[in-house]
Amino acid sequence: MKGGLGRLAVGGTFFTNARQDHAVSETAPSHSTMLSGRAPASTGIVTNALGVLDSTTSLLASGHVPGASPRRFQGSTLYDWLLAHDPGTRVLSVSRKDRGAILPLGRAWGNVFWYWDGRFTTSTFYGAELPEWVGAWNARRGPARLAGKSWDTLLDTAAYAEADAMSYENNGVDVAFPHRIPVDSGLAIKQVVSTPWIDSLTMDLALEGVRQVGLGGRNGIDLLVLSLSATDAIGHAFGPDSRELHDQVLRLDHWLGWFIDSLSVLVPPGATVFVLTSDHGVQPFPERTGVGGRLGLASLARTTGRALEQRFHVPLNFDFDSGLLTADVKALRARGLDVDSLADALARETGRHPGIAQVFTPSSLARAPVTDEQARLWRRTIPPAQGWLVAASAGPGWLWADTPGSTTHGSTHPLDTGVPIIFYGAGMKARRISRRVTSEDIGPTLAALAGVRPTEPVTGRVLTEIAPRRP
Ligand SMILES: [Zn+2]
Repeated sequence: MKGGLGRLAVGGTFFTNARQDHAVSETAPSHSTMLSGRAPASTGIVTNALGVLDSTTSLLASGHVPGASPRRFQGSTLYDWLLAHDPGTRVLSVSRKDRGAILPLGRAWGNVFWYWDGRFTTSTFYGAELPEWVGAWNARRGPARLAGKSWDTLLDTAAYAEADAMSYENNGVDVAFPHRIPVDSGLAIKQVVSTPWIDSLTMDLALEGVRQVGLGGRNGIDLLVLSLSATDAIGHAFGPDSRELHDQVLRLDHWLGWFIDSLSVLVPPGATVFVLTSDHGVQPFPERTGVGGRLGLASLARTTGRALEQRFHVPLNFDFDSGLLTADVKALRARGLDVDSLADALARETGRHPGIAQVFTPSSLARAPVTDEQARLWRRTIPPAQGWLVAASAGPGWLWADTPGSTTHGSTHPLDTGVPIIFYGAGMKARRISRRVTSEDIGPTLAALAGVRPTEPVTGRVLTEIAPRRP
């Protein structure tokens, strides 16, 4: 690879043994760790479902679509620390996903945009009107103009070792190249999020934003956050061993090279530091490996929740996400229910499923020894105020999914929690470092590079290969 990914991997300081050091390896909790220096138990972002969706806000210019905000996020991030030092700090965050755009900046207001149905938008949390330049970008109808386009392999098919057309992929439909984006533009703007082009669109908007916001155009440090989601969507649909994901990474490499080159025209490359990381990995299809399978425990949460709601006539918010069964435990206690017994019973039921490696209840997690790695990961995930009943870790190859046809991430397995961390650009040496580090180290390290300090205690550590620790 000779594009952006290749340049970062070869020319940057590459931490090859990095991870998201918590149990729910999903987009929202993992994005909350990247620039906060803290684990989800501290940021308050536990799962995607308990992430950024906020019905008290709405999306701009889209009728009644519920919006998103950092309402559940607690504490500060790198942007707040930079602002405390220099109130003129400029920021721009762009992603296909609301949670990918919002959470790296925590609770801060700013230029935060994500993709929705053919355009980039934001929610009423961030403002009453879209900036003119975002409106102008949307008016060009870039996503809709991809209608009818065909996604074929970038290289000759002989360059791909992976087999194409596996029947377990993509819900069993459209499993082989070429993949056609629908001719109908209304369908195309939805379908485009599952193709490599959503990344190029996201980068294009970000680059326009750098120009319009004037990022890097003053005597001070500014912050750009770019969250690219095509690899996630294609990973879910086709898996990490597919020809589709191989092709996506080639195209991402190409576009990222274009992005770095284009940015260097606007901001001097000698004054830019890039950090590349990820929110999670993805598991191979169990149908491919013959190991593991799918764990559908959402129905246990649903049936239990429904039965108790019928008994007590109040909403109890039972939910199950990537091993964690959450509920309004306070409401249950207030109605005299023995919550410990309920948690024990649900844990026993959960433990009966094949593929469950370990199960905790609030009381058994509190008692688990410090040497218990799964207990450690769950403690770093669940905030003290979060009501929950069961936290389960899956065995190798087991996915938190109710139905076949796709694969996923979200577990404590290293295939899900392992991520790259690469620092590249001004002052960064080409080297590989194999000691264990975490995504929580990125925020404090960038702060040290910028000469500022976190304004609250953080668990992430300054990576001394990148920035010397201040005395
Ligand atoms: Zn995903």
